[in-house]
Order: sequence, then structure tokens, then C-alpha cells
Amino acid sequence: MDSQKELPKGYMGRILEIDLGKKQFRYIDMEPDLALRFFGGRGIGAALLFRHFEELHTQGDYKDPFMEVEGLSPDNVVIIATSPATGTRMPASGRFHMNFKSPLSEGLGSSDSGGFWGVQLKHAGVDVLRIVGRAETPTYLVLDKDGVTFHDAAPLAGLSTEKTSELLLQELPKGSRVLSIGEAGKQMVRFAGVISERGRALGRSGGGAVWGSKNLHAVAVVPDPSIKIETADPEMLDIKNRESATFKAKMMLDVGKLTRKESHYGILSSLGSLGLLGMVNNHGQLSHNNMQNNAHDKDNIAKVNGEALRNHKDIAAPGTPTVEVKKGTCFNCPVACKRETTVLDEKGEYVDSGEGPEFETVTLMGANLSIYDLPLITKANYAANRFGMDTVSLGSTIASFFELYTYCRDKQNLSEQERSFMEEVRPFVNEVGEPVFGNSEVLLPLVDMIGNRRGIGFYLGEGSYRFCSRYGHPEFSMTVKQQELPAYDPRGSFSQGLSYEMSNRGGCHLEGGYMAAQAYAGGYGEWPADRTEGTPLILKNASLRNTIYDVIGSCVYTSFSIGLDDYAKLLNAITGLNLNAGELQRLGHRVFTLERLFNVRCGKGPQDDWLPRRFFTDPITVDGGERVCDEEAFRRMHGEYYDAMGWDAEGVPTEEVLHKLKLGDFISFLTEKRS
Ligand code: SF4
Repeated sequence: MDSQKELPKGYMGRILEIDLGKKQFRYIDMEPDLALRFFGGRGIGAALLFRHFEELHTQGDYKDPFMEVEGLSPDNVVIIATSPATGTRMPASGRFHMNFKSPLSEGLGSSDSGGFWGVQLKHAGVDVLRIVGRAETPTYLVLDKDGVTFHDAAPLAGLSTEKTSELLLQELPKGSRVLSIGEAGKQMVRFAGVISERGRALGRSGGGAVWGSKNLHAVAVVPDPSIKIETADPEMLDIKNRESATFKAKMMLDVGKLTRKESHYGILSSLGSLGLLGMVNNHGQLSHNNMQNNAHDKDNIAKVNGEALRNHKDIAAPGTPTVEVKKGTCFNCPVACKRETTVLDEKGEYVDSGEGPEFETVTLMGANLSIYDLPLITKANYAANRFGMDTVSLGSTIASFFELYTYCRDKQNLSEQERSFMEEVRPFVNEVGEPVFGNSEVLLPLVDMIGNRRGIGFYLGEGSYRFCSRYGHPEFSMTVKQQELPAYDPRGSFSQGLSYEMSNRGGCHLEGGYMAAQAYAGGYGEWPADRTEGTPLILKNASLRNTIYDVIGSCVYTSFSIGLDDYAKLLNAITGLNLNAGELQRLGHRVFTLERLFNVRCGKGPQDDWLPRRFFTDPITVDGGERVCDEEAFRRMHGEYYDAMGWDAEGVPTEEVLHKLKLGDFISFLTEKRS
């Protein structure tokens, strides 16, 4: 696919570069080589991120910008990339990707979102945004087909992401969409995200803090109805044509919905992502009390699972708050896993409404805190969306706070750091209550204090690793590469544990681990969750496959029904290329390897590829027996995984694999001395 010299169809052909400091913008032609080698989304994002840091070196400002430029530096960059498939008739084609250096990990920053904003960016005639510099004062941008206008963001001061969007849309033509940060991004909470609609998040890695550090508060896109996305074979994409790739993909999704009600796909459609909660708990993987164990009471799980959300009015105790729910979806997605909710008070009167909660949110901001109150978790989710915070990192950071507090409260002979912690937390305890597992009274105040970086919330806004390290206890931070782990306990699934370790953006559940065991390998019956033999190879294939969904601009949830062969047909109809499943898998390998190389250049190595200690020392009960992650087996899996990926014993991609993946122009980064 990468010998062609013309830009394939599906692209708008333009990268829009915005310099916030100079208040200037320019369009750059999309190079065919960039499109053909990295395709779109996460692929183009990784390539342009790398190129930005190399340019900083060429300009002579830094000896080694990869190491010297931090996530919150004005010299960081924000890349937002769509794919040629974004906004086309391919199912679930509303997704777009954001890259930057992460203020959490100080390595790769990477987040993906659904919704509608990316589609409208293409209808403004742009494939990719590259945002550099720092605005002198708070600024928001309006993009249309002719360019960019820079606006004073003073009227947005103190507004939530939702209100920001409402305010800007009042002045903009129909169809416009807004991406914005809330107070958390403005205050540079290190796990702040960027939000569109009422809760579609570019959530992970702290991109909202990067926006805040650049004084960038919102980006509105104004589509032009005359701008169409050209495709190579519209007939093959026409849903009314029963022979078309789109029709077949839709059929696969529909058949999955009807015949696999108990599978991930059927559950996602009928119950939303929260439908996974019961299944994950049944496998002993649902994290509890800052991942100390998996000991949830079944009755408690029944209060917060997918069925509970769907039937909440019927199951809630009389005279208590309830949640009403209806389906929501992203652009052109028949799965419709999103949920729009309304919270009612004990008298049945309206309290609030918004998007979610999703499975990860209910676990990290609920079950992992021993809080099983669905209306409360739903309200905390609304607040997190309005502040613009990643609910995985937020919930996990609160859990680490609870554990640290309980440990220090119950300990004799506190160290100096522990004493200073108890001093700093005292006003919170006096005014709000004890930050302990199961105390639901403290949840909403904590979200508010972290979002505003008030009191103890100031330090919690640094993320759990920096927070716990400040007081001498990094072991209470459940992170890999300083990013918080999602809902699955690695002792319940070793492939998930290995996947957390190898994820380029740090703790992440979307790199194939959980699915490697359950979906791709046929379920636990055929692939036991504590199996280590052969797991690295399975994980490699699953993670490369999952990378592809972020590169082509589709949703990983469709992977349960639509395979890479079928995606190749859809992409060929869009672009006019001649792709197949093998080439897509190689594209995933290329992108994943380039991300790894970025991390290597940022100083990351094998020492960063490890789970927190407790998973190797403290057993949990799974299937009636005790289980920990076996350290020697994990060490062996690391070696096998590096080998399978074409990385050396230190986890550095070899020259050979870079050549093989057509990344030869990046080989100099392996040896280059910055002097
Ligand atoms: S499956 Fe869910 S998250 Fe994915 S595109 Fe569809 S509605 Fe959005």
C-alpha cells in the first residue's frame, strides 16, 4: 500500500497547523507518504508527534527535546487526527484521535473519542489539526473551511464543558460541534480530558491539562454543507446495495446483536458497556478497594450492573433517588452502546441529566471505592464530565487516597511524610468526612475539590503516582507508566496484566489483554486466565489488531462482529487502495512500534513495563483458589513479547523490525547522540 504516490480517496488533503503564540495558522498538504504509511488517527498522530519533537531538536532549542520538553511545556504539541474513513458510511466511523506528550507518564499521550466532532472537522475541509505554542491569554478557536479565528476565552471562565459548548453553539451555524476543557484542564489536573457533546471524552493521558497549559479552552468546528468526503467506490458503501461492504458489515453487527446476546457485542447493544460489569465480576476480575482484592458482595454488584441501570426505577427502594436511561450512539453506529441518563430525587422529581455512566466509571468511581449507589455514581460521572476529567484516573486516584488515609490513620509511629499527609488531610476530614472505602458522602465533594484543585484536591490532581509518592507510598498507586489502571484486576486475567504493562500510553484496557483471553482465544474454557504459555503471542496479535481500530477511525467494540478482512473491504471502497487483513495487521505493528520508539526516546525502558507490586505478592480468590501474578512467569512473558514484537531484550525496536515495518527513516533515533 505504501508504493503509491497519490493521496487515496477519503482524505480532505489538508493538515491545519495552528500556532497559538503567534495567532497564526496555515494549511499544509497531506503528504501521500504520511497517509499511506500511517493511514490516519492514531497512526498519523504518532508520526506527527515524533516529527514535532525532532523539529524542536533541528531548530536548536533543545539538545534532547524528547527528554527535556515536559507534558505541560508550551513546546508540547497537540495532534488531532481523523482517518479517511471518518464520516463515511463505514459503521462506527465517528471516531478521532489525539496525541501529545502526556503530563501523567511523560511519554506517549494518546486518547480516542467517538461522537461527531471529528466528522465535522472533515466537513470543514481538514484531516488533521496540529496545535503548537501557548496563547498569551485564555483562547478559544473557531475553525471553518476558510481558516481559524482566535477568540478571547474570558466569557468561558468558570464554565463547565457542557455550558461552554452551549454558549459557543448559540453563535454558530447548525451542525457545528465543540471540543472543550473544563476547570480541571484549566487547572492542569494531570488526568484532565477534552470533552465533546455532554460526555464524549478524549479522556486518557491528560490531554486536557496540555490544552490548559497552552491556554486553549475550546475548539469549535463549523462544517460546510458543500464539502463532501469523496470515496473511491460509493456503490460498495451504499447500505441499500445488498452486495455492498457496508450492508454486509451492518448485517454482521445485526446478526451479532440478535444471536450473541450473551457476548460482548450483544451486551453492549442491549445494556451499554455497563452490561460487562456482572460478567467481569463473575470472572473474579472486578477491582475492589484500590485493587486490594476482588471481594464484591453479589447483592452490591446487582445494585450497579447493566440490568440495574436499565431497570433502576423498578429495583430502587421506594422513596430513594432513581436513574432513568435511554440509548445513545455515536455517528453512524448501529451498536449504540451509549447511555443518556436522568437522575430523579426520592419524590421522582428531576435532579440532573447527562451521559453515562459507563462500565469503567461505575467500577472506578463506585465498586472500587466500595460505593454501590447508582444515582450517586451517575451524578459523580456528570460532574467529572463537566470538569473534564478522565473517570478511570480520577476514581483510581481517589481509591489510592482512601487506602493511604486508612493506612496512616491506623498506623503507630508515623513517618514525617505520613504526619504531613495527616496534617494536610485534616481540614477535609473535619469538613467533609473520612476518606475511607464505602463512605459515599465524600465522593461528590472530592470530585469538586480535585476539579477545582482546592485543598487536598490540589495534590490529588497530580494523579495517584505523584500523590502517593509525595507522602512516601508510591505502592498505593495502581499505575503502569504512572497512568492509572482500569477496572480489571490483573490477577484475574494474566493477559490483561501483560497488556497493562505493554500498553504504550500506560495502564490501558484497550490493547487486547482482556479480549485476548475471552474473545479471541475462545473464552476461559480454552484459554485459562492464569495461562502464561503462548499468551505473549496471542496478546501481540490482539494488541496490533486493536491498534488498527484507532488508526482507521472505527470503534474497537465493532471488533466482536467485524473482522479485519471485512474492514479491508470497507477501507478499499473508501480509499481505492487494495488492502487486506495482513496489511492492516502490519499497519498496526508499524504504529505500535513507532509509539514504543517514542517512549524509548522519552527515557522509558523495561523498568516501566511492570505492574504494581501488590499483584505479585497479595493473593485474591479466583475460582475458589488463591492467585497472584507469578513474577518469574511475567518476566519470561516480557521477553517473549519483546521478541514477538521484534524488540531487543531491553524492549527497544531492532533495526531489522524498523526496516521490515518501513520505519527505516526512524533508525537514527536508536543511536543518535544529542550533542
Ligand atoms: S460502539 Fe459505542 S462507543 Fe463505539 S462508536 Fe458505537 S456508540 Fe460509540
